[in-house]
Amino acid sequence: MSRIAYVNGSYLPEAEAKISVFDRGFLFADGVYEVTPIVNGRLVDYDAHIERLDRSLGELRMAWPCSRQELRAMHEELVKRNALKEGIIYMQVTRGVADRQFNFPKEAKSSLVAFPQVMVLVDNPNARTGVKVITTPDIRWLRRDIKSVMLLAPVLGKQEAYEKGANEGWMVEDGFVTEGTSSNAYIVKDNTVITRPLSNRILAGCTRRALFRLAKEHDVKIEERAFTPDEAYAADEAFLTSASQFVMPIVEIDGKRVGGGQPGPVTRKLRELFLQEAQRD
Ligand code: PMP
Repeated sequence: MSRIAYVNGSYLPEAEAKISVFDRGFLFADGVYEVTPIVNGRLVDYDAHIERLDRSLGELRMAWPCSRQELRAMHEELVKRNALKEGIIYMQVTRGVADRQFNFPKEAKSSLVAFPQVMVLVDNPNARTGVKVITTPDIRWLRRDIKSVMLLAPVLGKQEAYEKGANEGWMVEDGFVTEGTSSNAYIVKDNTVITRPLSNRILAGCTRRALFRLAKEHDVKIEERAFTPDEAYAADEAFLTSASQFVMPIVEIDGKRVGGGQPGPVTRKLRELFLQEAQRD
């Protein structure tokens, strides 16, 4: 069955879902995006994603493409039309279609496109074994707090990871891990979760935010500070978070086994808490 995608007000079979070559998202990566997980046919943590979208749009002085109610209805309609039980809805807003010039066009109206992807989120087999990561230099711009579609550096980092037999690249800047190419990064030492504080150097993950809340509710200690690759190699546990992986255990970093090569107890507990909430949401 071909997917149904959304393009500026229309629901279309994916083969007919097209945008203009003059769209500024295509020409300049002048756009932002969000990825919302779907579990049991329901949106998970939707409000956090929309709050972040609003912030990204504001930071780039880009207009909302529709009302908040319309955006929510569009997400629900895509889930329904695609009979999506588990996976994600990807949505992207760009500054719209205009003749190619760098400065903001006066007339353009923001474009909105969205589509679903079927994925196994809850029973993801990677969560049982844990995944491998490698470290790679962070070559991105300095506004990583904006969820921009300008993703060439993460594409190169992820490709390097795949070519080295790993699932994710942890990006390193000034000797410290910033985050994964498409996830936030954590280590666990003496039962304390360590992760970098929010700033313009990382994306404020919605899964990170949920994790902080769950950790607080269940007395798991979190220390917000940057850590080095050496500290990560010597950690008791490591994991990553993202909307499509939730809490994912890491068992190897740069070819070095972490935590005996098995998903650790703190990570497993946090994943379980997250899954319980997502299935209830
Ligand atoms: N950092 C980066 C660079 C990302 O691309 C993502 C995934 N969008 C995240 C962190 C995790 O954010 P979230 O939990 O909202 O998916």
